[in-house]
Amino acid sequence: MAHLHTLDEVDVKGKRVLLRVDLNLPMENGRVSDATRIERVLPTIQELSEKGGKVILLAHFGRPKGHRLEQDSLRQILPALEQYLKQTVVFADDCVGRPASMVVDALKDGEIALLENTRFHKEEEQNDAAFVAELAKNGDIFVNDAFSAAHRAHASTEGLAHVLPAFAGRSMQAELEALKQALLNPQRPVIAIVGGAKVSTKLDLLANLVGKTQYLVIAGGMANTFLSAQGVNVGKSLCEYDLAPTARDVLEKAKEANCQIILPIDVVVAKKFEAHTPCNVCSLDKISDDEMVLDVGPKSIAQVDAILRNCKTLVWNGPFGAFELPPFDQGTRLLAQSAAQLTIEGKLRSIAGGGDTVSALSQAGVAEKFSYVSTAGGAFLEWLEGRTLPGVAALEK
Ligand code: AMP
Repeated sequence: MAHLHTLDEVDVKGKRVLLRVDLNLPMENGRVSDATRIERVLPTIQELSEKGGKVILLAHFGRPKGHRLEQDSLRQILPALEQYLKQTVVFADDCVGRPASMVVDALKDGEIALLENTRFHKEEEQNDAAFVAELAKNGDIFVNDAFSAAHRAHASTEGLAHVLPAFAGRSMQAELEALKQALLNPQRPVIAIVGGAKVSTKLDLLANLVGKTQYLVIAGGMANTFLSAQGVNVGKSLCEYDLAPTARDVLEKAKEANCQIILPIDVVVAKKFEAHTPCNVCSLDKISDDEMVLDVGPKSIAQVDAILRNCKTLVWNGPFGAFELPPFDQGTRLLAQSAAQLTIEGKLRSIAGGGDTVSALSQAGVAEKFSYVSTAGGAFLEWLEGRTLPGVAALEK
């Protein structure tokens, strides 16, 4: 990763700073139900404000696809933003045109404005040059603190970086530093855990990890496809039978790259995909036709745990089982707790990310104990796949 332009290089006093943040927050009954994303960008907003910059927040919310939809208005997150910032935030009804310029022109040094959802304009996702120019009229510099949106080349995530002096915000910097330590410059041995539902969504991820890690644990529903490809009867488990050749190919590539693949050696099976449904532990040769695998068994947990204890770096995406349905959260929970403990003891650097992974770790009560938990879903995965993220590339020196 080339070096990024950061806030250490710029004097923001008196400048209009267009700051791209991720405020795409989960809502329940009109209120923010999880403010993690606000917490992540607070340091950058506060630093810019304290240094006398006029902070102009740009963000998207939901998927209005170029339409002005009340349900996707950023106005609804204003109270939560002000509560966390302990400061008034002025709201502009549009991110371009007179509503935006009137608010921006009235800002004094250190004050903060939030502009309406950039995706109310279809030109945002098209990265339209004229729209980029309209956005740029309200800024002297551009700061991008939204790693989670950096895999999209949109006007406010990539376009602006080409027309204004552009810098990475503190949260973007921290995220990239953590990722660098995970795969580009890690302490070895490195173990990756890839779980979740389907192999088809994580093929590029597996291919990249095979070349970068010493151990690759394949878990969750996707492990069934690998087991089946090796001749195991997985009953009525979630399984992508058509991907058997692909699974065998991944196993072959791992062998060539000296990466040890770890698949479950025992499993928890049930007849229904339901919480608290009767279940039992069995070996791989005892799965009946009317049963489905919903979690890894105790021997598999012990096996992964023993490897974890010998590793220095962990990269984790995706749960070990159907963690939303107890007791099938056991594998994810116990291994997450073990990784957290090793991290606290200073023996392991643990990096996890992706939507379901964050909820699984939070459910296990360990999200705070990992070295770094990325709240970025798609961007985190694309980075692990070894892709260039346009929003990051535009900030490189
Ligand atoms: P992903 O979004 O690909 O990380 O997948 C997460 C989802 O995979 C969660 O909703 C889990 O319930 C699901 N999952 C994990 N293991 C299994 C399994 N053995 N059978 C069915 N679903 C699973």
